Amino acid sequence: MRKIRQSQKLRHVRYDVRGPILVEAQRLEAEGHRILKLNIGNPAPFGFEAPEAILADVMHHLPESQGYSDSQGIYSARTAVAQYYQARGLRETDVEDVFIGNGVSELISMVLQAFVDDGNEILIPAPDYPLWTGAVTLSGGTPVHYRCDEDNGWMPDLEDIESKITSNTHALVIINPNNPTGAVYSRQMVEALVDIARRHQLVVFADEIYEKILFDDAVHHHAATAAGHDVLCLTFSGLSKAYRVCGYRAGWVMISGPKEIAEEFLEGLTLIANMRMCANVPAQHAIQTALGGYQSINELIVPGGRFYEQSMLAHKLLNDIPGVTSVKPQGALYCFPRLDPEVYAIEDDEQFVIELLRSKKILVTHGSGFNWPEPDHFRLVTLPDVDVLEEAIGRIAEFLATRR
Ligand code: PLP
Repeated sequence: MRKIRQSQKLRHVRYDVRGPILVEAQRLEAEGHRILKLNIGNPAPFGFEAPEAILADVMHHLPESQGYSDSQGIYSARTAVAQYYQARGLRETDVEDVFIGNGVSELISMVLQAFVDDGNEILIPAPDYPLWTGAVTLSGGTPVHYRCDEDNGWMPDLEDIESKITSNTHALVIINPNNPTGAVYSRQMVEALVDIARRHQLVVFADEIYEKILFDDAVHHHAATAAGHDVLCLTFSGLSKAYRVCGYRAGWVMISGPKEIAEEFLEGLTLIANMRMCANVPAQHAIQTALGGYQSINELIVPGGRFYEQSMLAHKLLNDIPGVTSVKPQGALYCFPRLDPEVYAIEDDEQFVIELLRSKKILVTHGSGFNWPEPDHFRLVTLPDVDVLEEAIGRIAEFLATRR
């Protein structure tokens, strides 16, 4: 019989955070091993709970959420998102500028399907959140990675971006705060990035899902503010991280800038939104409550709060391991340590992660899974309680000691 193959479109698409490393972890679990999974930024399994008002609101609205909603999203959710940005100085944001999706993930795919033509080049940071690279590839585009500079706190290398722009470059992706590096960009950096887009007539895709997870004196600056009236900017965010409801699948994209030049693209985006009917309706009801209510996230990101303490502890313990350096995270939920090649000489970082998993029953994600070009990094999720983190990083240190 003829073999059923995957489509050619998928040939170069990768999403390693849930790739072969997870399959191997599941195989070990089936054998009866307990695996500590530090590969996904999913707060709920680590004892984080959503604000109660969100749960109550979703439950309250279940009976009336049985039908499809408007494809762009329910009115109250879109209004809440529009007002959220208005209150941040983006005064002209309108309810029509907001699309609600099943998480930022769905919206990234939808936007790229509507935007990218075969061979279009899209600038994406390295390292990146790998959905961006995968979704650009799947939509027929060419991801072009610009380097973020570890020696400069993982800031984007502006010269590298400029040098990679061609007549075929159409958009610049900015992930701020960054996954996997934890970097948060200064106002000057955001303005410099947007200015590149301005000069080269690129659209900005700003993934700001970690905008409320900031440590110490880090401040988040919206790319849309820098983009103003003359750069088309699509800002992505949602409830998964700051409100700890990854499973609800609630996110949005907000369109700002010269929308009049983007009418055709927006028609395309509407078509794609229509084709998938709507986002999960009960979760859409949570958006207004989340954005308007008490921001309990602010308790987690200050000294004494779990996000803060765990991030700082992970950063310290990783740096205590010989040959390991990790830039201090300014936000988000991750550390992205470097393993000095002179000490560890790793050739295949995915294999390294699998060996760590088999030996110590801890699952982290290899740096090349984030399109980092050298096999010398991995990403650790900083969500476990401090005791568990200490134990986990201790086991990683033991494993590394066998590799020096
Ligand atoms: N963007 C970034 C940078 C992320 O880290 C993630 C999830 O980890 C997403 C988007 C996807 O989020 P959502 O749960 O809203 O689909």
